[in-house]
Amino acid sequence: MSGLNLAQLQAVHYTEGPCLVLAGAGSGKTRVITHKIARLIETGLAPRRIAAITFTNKAAAEMRERAAGLIGRQAKDVLVCTFHALGVRMVREDGHVLGLKPSFSILDQDDVTGILKDCAGGTTDLATARQWQWTISNWKNQGWDARKALAMAQDDHERSIALIMQRYEERLTAYQSVDFDDLIGMPMRLLRHHPEVREKWQRLLGHVLVDEYQDTNATQYELLKYLVGERARFTAVGDDDQSIYGWRGATLDNLKKLPQDFPQLNVIKLEQNYRSTSAILRAANHVIQPNPKLFPKTLFSELGEGEPVRVVDCDNEEHEAERAVARIQGLRAASNPPPAWKNFAILYRANHQAKPFEKALRKANIPYKVSGGTSFFDRAEIKDLCAWFRLWINNDDDPAFLRAVTSPRRGVGHTTLAALGEFATQHKQSMFGALFNAMLPAVIPKRGLEGLLEFGRTVNDLEHRARHTHGHEAARAFLADWLKDMGYEQHLYDSEDSEKVAAARWSNVLEFCDWMAQRAGGQIDDTAGTTVQATTKSLLEVAQTIALLSTISEREQEQDMVVLSTLHASKGLEWPHVILAGVTEGMLPFKLDDDDGRQQKVSDDTLQRLQEERRLMYVGITRAQRTLAVSWTKKRKKGREMVACQPSRFIAEMKLDAATARENPRDKLRQLREEFARKAQAAPSPATP
Ligand code: ATP
Ligand code: MG
Repeated sequence: MSGLNLAQLQAVHYTEGPCLVLAGAGSGKTRVITHKIARLIETGLAPRRIAAITFTNKAAAEMRERAAGLIGRQAKDVLVCTFHALGVRMVREDGHVLGLKPSFSILDQDDVTGILKDCAGGTTDLATARQWQWTISNWKNQGWDARKALAMAQDDHERSIALIMQRYEERLTAYQSVDFDDLIGMPMRLLRHHPEVREKWQRLLGHVLVDEYQDTNATQYELLKYLVGERARFTAVGDDDQSIYGWRGATLDNLKKLPQDFPQLNVIKLEQNYRSTSAILRAANHVIQPNPKLFPKTLFSELGEGEPVRVVDCDNEEHEAERAVARIQGLRAASNPPPAWKNFAILYRANHQAKPFEKALRKANIPYKVSGGTSFFDRAEIKDLCAWFRLWINNDDDPAFLRAVTSPRRGVGHTTLAALGEFATQHKQSMFGALFNAMLPAVIPKRGLEGLLEFGRTVNDLEHRARHTHGHEAARAFLADWLKDMGYEQHLYDSEDSEKVAAARWSNVLEFCDWMAQRAGGQIDDTAGTTVQATTKSLLEVAQTIALLSTISEREQEQDMVVLSTLHASKGLEWPHVILAGVTEGMLPFKLDDDDGRQQKVSDDTLQRLQEERRLMYVGITRAQRTLAVSWTKKRKKGREMVACQPSRFIAEMKLDAATARENPRDKLRQLREEFARKAQAAPSPATP
């Protein structure tokens, strides 16, 4: 237990009841969780009886790694995962109680929009369907089902969405499918309404730990309460100043409720920041200062004053990207050896802001990765392949059926599919199930029917062969044959105007297949919460895990690359050198309707959104360990126009020293070189005894 301060030790050693660690950024909250896992095992709790819940799969992977560093192999059995991955496991084990097969499918956002459009008769545009999806998701996150939504509807508009939700629920049941929100809602209902299931999980879990507690939503909190039961052995860690998912239903009420719902709650505060220099921490403290305080907090750092925080004024977004690249190169040149690329992060508010940086980095030959953007599994070509796996596992997965049968198209047209869909609904069957219905030939013309039956046979045949394909080589051969028979490469070239894009997509497919084959050979372990032994597996087993995970998993590798990330995706992480880009009024804070930055009075809604924007800025600043630059642009593209811009109000709120804040690239470089030379002189040579 070395490397913990007193308050941290206290949090780690208190294992008997509910514990809340409430503390600012970089104060070692996540560290408390990893050490507490070790401590719990030390006190005799079996690793598989510990659940540690993180916010992203990536954070889970990192935590598992850190825990392994402390306790070795036993870490493998600890359930480290996101709320959603825990939900998958619970629904897989106990969903039958709610009438769900263990082979259920998880729908991704696209599937959901498609189904919603369909529920409304198919004439709806995408934007409207997305809007419904948003509303329905919000209802679900509050724990409402369609019936409740209908009862609570305020006006005709809401009533009509509630009716669509009702149809949507029926579809999902018919498809044996669940959406993202169900992965929290269903386990919660399982525990609430089924005492035997509740007791089973409460018996299993000896301690539950939750990181980033401030970003849980109401349903997640309910789920947590049922999981821990009366004994309430749990540890939640969080920071109200870093709550940045209000727009997705996260609620600070969960922090306020905790002491009420658990009067014996042990609240521990951490005050020392171990991440950032004083200069950075001061800027962070200043920025968050105007927000109302849920709990008073003070943070200090003993890492020294460090480099002043810099403000970089840029003409436009291209210029901003160039200056970021120059800064990275400058910082690298100033140290010997130069810091690795992965020590640098460029953070911004929205995904689309990455583009100029990508271009500039590419031009400078700097390796980079975009995190928090489109993940591998979100790519259309990967989803196409996963649709087949989903179908192997759950024949009733209609969205998967539609995807697999149409990409590439195999002589089955829209009219045939529409007729099949109608027939299936009438006969209360899934589309795949309906293929083999003896009555089908009566409603579908011969040519279309042949295409469909051929497809059905292929799926069954492939499933059968996948079950008996074991190991790396066999899996590779299988996948190669399958892609060839399907004509998938040609399909990509046919459907893309640009050959370059088609080639890139095809190379994703190959990479994916390679990865699957490696899994079949047992070379890769699972990284998303379910423990799998590293032995060879059948391709069907591999497909099964992938199909379940594909919708919720990101595959990240620790590579030496500059990181481009949205602020939201940067939560919990840290880098020695951070550039916060686009800190321009209208971008961060995002343009709010009735607020021009000068007005004294704004609506409550705007005020709350502004406070969340401020927390976002706080999260960004506190990712930096040693240097921080904040850049903004005098002009930015807005649609087709260029508009004049002001620096974000948050820059003034950082209260930087005007004399040191403005960056001049040339001075900077010289200064760093000099400093390096001084340090090199001052440091005793390693050869000296
Ligand atoms: P965030 O709010 O951003 O999630 P956090 O509170 O979870 O931050 P950690 O990520 O756990 O903070 O810790 C921040 C950094 O400080 C990490 O590099 C961690 O290893 C280090 N650290 C934490 N506690 C200590 C300690 N007692 N001694 C030395 N280093 C520490
Ligand atoms: Mg953390």
